[in-house]
Amino acid sequence: AVAEEKKVQPVAVAYKPVTATEVKVNISEPTRAQAAAATMADGVGLLRIEHMILGLGKTPGYYIRSGRSEEYVDELVKNIKIVADAFYPKPVWVRTLDAPTDEFRAMEGGENEPVEHNPMLGWRGIRRDLTEVDHFRLEVRAFKKLHELGLTNVGIMLPMVQHVSELKRAKEIMREEGLDLNKIDVGIMVETPAAALTIEDFIEEGLDFISFGTNDLTQYTLAVDRNNENVANLYSEMHPAVIKLIEYVVERCKKAGVKTSICGQAGSYPEMARRLVQIGIDSISANIDAVATVRETVARAELSILLEAARNR
Ligand code: PEP
Ligand code: MG
Repeated sequence: AVAEEKKVQPVAVAYKPVTATEVKVNISEPTRAQAAAATMADGVGLLRIEHMILGLGKTPGYYIRSGRSEEYVDELVKNIKIVADAFYPKPVWVRTLDAPTDEFRAMEGGENEPVEHNPMLGWRGIRRDLTEVDHFRLEVRAFKKLHELGLTNVGIMLPMVQHVSELKRAKEIMREEGLDLNKIDVGIMVETPAAALTIEDFIEEGLDFISFGTNDLTQYTLAVDRNNENVANLYSEMHPAVIKLIEYVVERCKKAGVKTSICGQAGSYPEMARRLVQIGIDSISANIDAVATVRETVARAELSILLEAARNR
């Protein structure tokens, strides 16, 4: 019995490899903030706000038309704050609203949504922000309030950008609303081939970071609907054209000191994660349940790059 007691007991060791490439987490629901923070991720590479807004049951336009804009801003602040608090001072990149119009239709106020033949190529993301400017201003006011509350880790990420003029106009509106762009990080999602191929224009205009939205970048580069099972076999983020666009953007951003990241699903695929580490991306942002695995993959990829370099000296 004594010998039995002295047996070494296995101990659970929490092991977190240190990586030069940051590993971040994607969040869609503020209720998941604590679970996301528990992954010890280096920040939030994508906070989607669609669920928060769809959860309100009323379209942003409904709030504006019924004179309840402040209530809408407060809802945004309340929800984003939960995540920003959980990660402070690590960066939390919040994406402005990017819901296709069909998703709003069932909500109160949804009857005012345009009926679009192809919502994925339609009025969403920055396109909507810059034509429904009243709404964009409310989002910007929420960001301003969060910074006034001391949550200086909150950055703004603009989705579906395809021309530098969109970034320029968005920044003008932010300044008009009193945001100090020296104190808040602003970046774009690279999810159209147009944004990737003209990245130098965006760099020249000024931005703090880019993040690859490979879910969309792949569908727009390959002309393959990401939700169409008939062509699902043609959908691959590892297609050489997608990889070339990524390489092109990372190379130019590196030279200019603009941070690069990925928040599309592909960042969680080992083959892609290894490739991104080789290309020299600054961070990979993955879903909560994938963070630990991505960290392992990244650590191994970094180690093998170092070993190879040492052996080839
Ligand atoms: C993407 O396009 O890769 C992305 C992260 O955005 P979403 O999946 O929300 O379109
Ligand atoms: Mg997208």
